[in-house]
Amino acid sequence: MPVAESNTVRLHVTLGGAVQGVGFRPFVYRLAVEMGLSGWVCNSSAGLILEVEGSQDQLDRFLDRLDAEKPSAAIVLTRETAYLAPAGWSGFEIRTSDQETGKTASVLPDLATCPACLAELRDPANRRYGYAFTNCTHCGPRYTIVEDIPYDRPRTTMRAFTMCPECAREYTDPQDRRFHAQPNACPRCGPRLLAEGNGAAVGRPAIEQATEAILTGGIVALKGIGGFQLLVDARQPDAVSRLRTRKRREEKPFALMMASLEMVRQYCHVSAAEERLLTSSAAPIVLLRPNGKPGIAPNVAASSPYLGVMLPYSPLHHLLMKACPFPVVATSGNLSDEPIAIDNDDARVRLGGIADLFLVHDRPIARPCDDSVARVVRGRASVMRRARGFAPLSVFLGFDLPPVLAVGGHLKNTVAIALGRQVFLSQHVGDLDTLEARQAFEWAIADLCRLYRFEPKLVACDLHPDYASTRWALGSGLPVVQVQHHQAHAAACAAENGLRGPYLGVAWDGTGYGTDGTVWGGEFFRVDGTKFERIAHLRPFRLPGGEAAVREGWRSAASLLAAALGPQAVPERPQRSVVLQMLARGLNAPWTTSVGRLFDAVASMTGVAEESRFEGQAAMLLERQIDEVNDDAYPLTDGDWAPIIEAVRCDVSRGESASHVSARFHNALANWIVSVAGQAGIPQVALSGGVFQNRYLVERTAALLEARGFQVYTHQRVPPNDGGIALGQAVVAALGQGG
Ligand SMILES: [Zn+2]
Ligand SMILES: [Zn+2]
Ligand SMILES: [Zn+2]
Repeated sequence: MPVAESNTVRLHVTLGGAVQGVGFRPFVYRLAVEMGLSGWVCNSSAGLILEVEGSQDQLDRFLDRLDAEKPSAAIVLTRETAYLAPAGWSGFEIRTSDQETGKTASVLPDLATCPACLAELRDPANRRYGYAFTNCTHCGPRYTIVEDIPYDRPRTTMRAFTMCPECAREYTDPQDRRFHAQPNACPRCGPRLLAEGNGAAVGRPAIEQATEAILTGGIVALKGIGGFQLLVDARQPDAVSRLRTRKRREEKPFALMMASLEMVRQYCHVSAAEERLLTSSAAPIVLLRPNGKPGIAPNVAASSPYLGVMLPYSPLHHLLMKACPFPVVATSGNLSDEPIAIDNDDARVRLGGIADLFLVHDRPIARPCDDSVARVVRGRASVMRRARGFAPLSVFLGFDLPPVLAVGGHLKNTVAIALGRQVFLSQHVGDLDTLEARQAFEWAIADLCRLYRFEPKLVACDLHPDYASTRWALGSGLPVVQVQHHQAHAAACAAENGLRGPYLGVAWDGTGYGTDGTVWGGEFFRVDGTKFERIAHLRPFRLPGGEAAVREGWRSAASLLAAALGPQAVPERPQRSVVLQMLARGLNAPWTTSVGRLFDAVASMTGVAEESRFEGQAAMLLERQIDEVNDDAYPLTDGDWAPIIEAVRCDVSRGESASHVSARFHNALANWIVSVAGQAGIPQVALSGGVFQNRYLVERTAALLEARGFQVYTHQRVPPNDGGIALGQAVVAALGQGG
């Protein structure tokens, strides 16, 4: 058993912006030494990287002082922090640049509108009053306008716009806020806004037309920073349901845009950490707990315990939201799960059947970047979908990697390249179900390689033979390393936390191809050096109908009930006998150890969800039900679900509430992790996989483990879901792990 250690944490910080040549490194050195923190600082192509070790309290104070006392000439545009496994630095040093990061090109992510630009936007006396494309060196589009490096106007999508004399003066004046602001523009010389609905309008009247459309329940397709968004009034259930029908998105929650932080507080609980995330330069969609205040149509996010909310992040959004002082649905401009539209003509074709009005402009978007999704877990920011505002920030690893291209999984696909000590993860590509998505996937690979002048020597992919990404890798003509799905999950979590084995990797999700050809999803690995040993897993059960069981959770319930209590325990319903036949004969009923499917089964047995209209819906609905103050737990030993199934059935028949069942179920899973960790006796535990998008499960498990002296690592900069596995694939392939 591990013993409680000192509570030392390592903080990794990447600062982007004007942070070099302004005395930043000596400042960090003095601050760290004064505060008695060990670690290092160095310049990199991405800006400034530093690490300090100390207690959480000290690190919080360090971050505050870093911000408050920084050199006056420094301009910090992006700040990404992550808490890592302690490395045991002694003393503090200034390191040379190449030692840590090598030479790689630097492109910043897109930055939300800064206060100075916002003030000009609202000032009738300013020449940019009401201009939808205002920006400066502190804000505006970056990654979504870059066509090639180095980042310079002729290599951006702004090259078609010739600056007027006044803009050119700002651009060439070192004292000006717009000195070398590549997207610099004004109403005279820059991009123009155009509304196309019943008639056309340009400039400010275009905003008025769009506002009118939203107010009257219409659907507006808005060309934003990284692609089109679809907007409707979130107070109007009919409008929301029309959007669902036309977009073919039955029940998956929609994100909201709200005009101000004050408005967000009207509808949601917002902690200090959540406020920082909402108002950060990345301005992601933040998952927040609703406070129950009426006003938002129930069909916006009926399945989720959370509301996804973002603040306006471009001048165009600020102008529109000023005219719409109420919550507005703002969802990706696509049909179902296709890639987001970025091109005006393409959008008119693909979104023509969805939108009543198009609010477009003539600044081309260089690459798609959906709105990112993030949340606060264990008091720290954690990204669920990494795209606008985060891409293309790298994940810095403490060791050199060979040039590996990792092509990710099938759902929520992202790809990654390993360059020296950094891994660059692409923006969210999406599910590779459609031809459009597979084209976007190939484009993302080519784009990343071209932008970073990267030539892969090795391709890492999933073990699943039928994933489009696997087939692409095998057809690439390069040496291929196939990495088991859950090993990639665990390795991703370890890598972004700076955790070098041995560690216990807990990888739980819906589906992943196992090394024995069955469907895994409830796995525990002892990871030591390059070796993965599967030391525990959920007791296998059959999935009657295979893929059909992913959508229809009652099938998993039937399988588990039949196995635990006999076929008579399976309730009457259509297709019951077919399913029982499949189970009895073992036909079209593959074995699985998936915790995701166990969630589906319990959701079905409690009547919370018979089916899932999108991946993870049943689990989300069960989480939504949870009674968080209930400490009871079902028995769960050695991954055997049979006692849980019996107890759930008993509770349901006694009329116990779904919140009670949900709590006992969640608590059982947390206890199981604690017990496996105790048996394994490995003090470091990494939690990864889609199941750990469940905030309650993560926080409860972490608290229980920490109380027993374990160090727990969860995702921060890379998603716990399949959006993160490209990182794990790259690391496993590079280190020659696996097997
Ligand atoms: Zn600005
Ligand atoms: Zn101009
Ligand atoms: Zn997965």
